[in-house]
This record gives sequence, structure tokens and C-alpha cells, in this order.
Amino acid sequence: MQLSIEFFPPQTGEGLEKLRAVRSQLAALQPDFFSVTFGAGGSTRERTFAVCRDIAEAGQPVAPHLSCIGSTRENIREILADYQARGIRRLVALRGDLPSGMAEAGEFRYASELVEFIRAETGDTFRLAVAAYPEWHPQARSPREDLDAFARKAKAGANLAITQYFYNADAYFHFVDEIRARGVDIPVIPGIMPIVSFFKLARFSDACGAELPRWMRRTFESLGDDTASIRAFGLDLVTRLCERLLAGGAPGLHFYSMNQAELTLEICRRLGRC
Ligand SMILES: Cc1cc2nc3c(=O)[nH]c(=O)nc-3n(C[C@H](O)[C@H](O)[C@H](O)COP(=O)(O)OP(=O)(O)OC[C@H]3O[C@@H](n4cnc5c(N)ncnc54)[C@H](O)[C@@H]3O)c2cc1C
Repeated sequence: MQLSIEFFPPQTGEGLEKLRAVRSQLAALQPDFFSVTFGAGGSTRERTFAVCRDIAEAGQPVAPHLSCIGSTRENIREILADYQARGIRRLVALRGDLPSGMAEAGEFRYASELVEFIRAETGDTFRLAVAAYPEWHPQARSPREDLDAFARKAKAGANLAITQYFYNADAYFHFVDEIRARGVDIPVIPGIMPIVSFFKLARFSDACGAELPRWMRRTFESLGDDTASIRAFGLDLVTRLCERLLAGGAPGLHFYSMNQAELTLEICRRLGRC
């Protein structure tokens, strides 16, 4: 099974130091790569670079995220040249969302244009992952248009897709059936969000369009602030989701680690990965 683990770039040197410790714990899982998010418009550019450099220098495979909204072709060309020079050979290619207050959309409208651009500039140098949304992208006009847009993006030259997180396995299986029917055969890796705090998860899910099923929401709500029970229920729930996805043919898992090691390690231990 393919395994990848996502980080976000910390704000401070101390955060970077902590992330090193987290990464060395997670390295025990021998992931295929660590990925590092990138703020649209280059807002985290230097911090994303710093984490990616750190990972690459430790001899571990890294896939920087690269979001194109708010960027020019020249900005992206420079970043590609930098990664190429550092021997980085994987990228997660995204549109991104413009940070509030940033009005300039830049020279790219969609991730498919970024994938085309990277392929035109650098050929097959990079193994490219793109984002997928089993519960549909929140701005999509319709499920059909979202699937068609995904198929265009994949056919522009993506090697694999990583999904937004979800807790309903059927949404993933339906998505995969639909894209296969559109002639897309790249692996689609489910994005897995371990549950650290249900309150934060609920807030974030509303913003990114991930559904929290009623039975799950109500159970968490009934646990109040009993952190041990929340942790136990979240671990059971996410482990069962992973088991069901893998049994149904998912080719791997991508963990949204939130820069923490413990829950990802425990879920992988339960799955027999370590
Ligand atoms: C695995 C993963 C990692 C992520 N990492 C980051 C990150 O590091 N930094 C960050 O800023 N964000 C990140 N995001 C969030 C992502 O950038 C947002 O969800 C963003 O709103 C969409 O990006 P996309 O690459 O999916 O865009 P696109 O694939 O371009 O899709 C965006 C919307 O446009 C529609 N669309 C696409 N093409 C067309 C077309 N030709 N005509 C009409 N409509 C079209 C789609 O249906 C969709 O609604 C990540 C998301 C995932 C799932």
C-alpha cells in the first residue's frame, strides 16, 4: 500500500524543530513521501521551501505542494527550477484559494492549467499528484462538471490523485467508479484526517465541504469534553474507515497529520503497518 503524510510549514523556528521530531517518529512508517502545503499566492513560499529542504537533506522523499492561483508563469518557473536543482522529483499541483485580501488572480485559473504548464516546462521530471473531491469541490457547479474537470486535470498529465478527507467510504468508491467511466486510470489515494479535536474538525469541514455524518457528529457531541473517549472513538472510526477503503481496493492512504505523529502512528499500527 502506498503511504504518504502531509505537513504544513510551521510559523517559527521552534515549530520547525518540533516538526523535525514529529517527522523522525513518522519515518518509522517508511512513507513513500512526506508532502508540505503551500499557501496560495506564495504566502508560505519560504517556509514551505525550508521544510522541504529539511526533509530532502534528511534523505527522505518529499512532495512540495504548489498552488498556482495568484502566481505568474515566471513565479512558477522559478520554483520548478529551484526544486529541480535540489533533486526534488514529486509535486502536488493545486489551484489553491486566494487568501482574503489578495485580489490578483494571477495567470492560472485552474489546477489543470498548472499541470499542463509543468509538463510543458519540465516534461516528465516530476511525478505529479492532484487533488480530488469525493464529496465534490465546494465551488463546483454540479457533480458532473466537477468530475469532468477532474478528468481534464488528470489527463493533462497527473500521475496520481489525493482526495480531500471524508468519513463516508461510499463517496470515495462512487468517485472512483465515475472517473474510471471517464477513462481516468490514475491511482486515487484517500486523504485521511485523524480526529484530534472534534470542534476544530467540524469548523474546518464546513469550510472545505467535507461532510461529517450525523451519527458521527451526534456521538462526538454526546462525549462533551471527555478527551479520552473522543480520542478512542475517533481512532476506532478512522481505523475502520481505512480498513474499509483498503479492503475495497484503495491503493494507499495519505494522512493529514496536522504536524502530529501520535494518531497517524496509532492508526497505522492498528492497520498492521508498523
Ligand atoms: C490533497 C490536497 C492538498 C491540498 N493542499 C493545498 C495547499 O498546499 N495549498 C492550498 O492553498 N490549498 C490546498 N488544498 C486545497 C485546494 O487548493 C482547494 O480545495 C482549491 O479550492 C481547489 O484546488 P484544486 O487544485 O482542486 O483546483 P481545481 O482542480 O482547479 O478545481 C477548482 C474548482 O474549479 C472547477 N474547475 C476546474 N477546472 C475547471 C474548468 N476548466 N472550467 C470550470 N470549472 C473548473 C472544479 O470543478 C472545482 O470546483 C489541497 C486540497 C487537497 C485535496
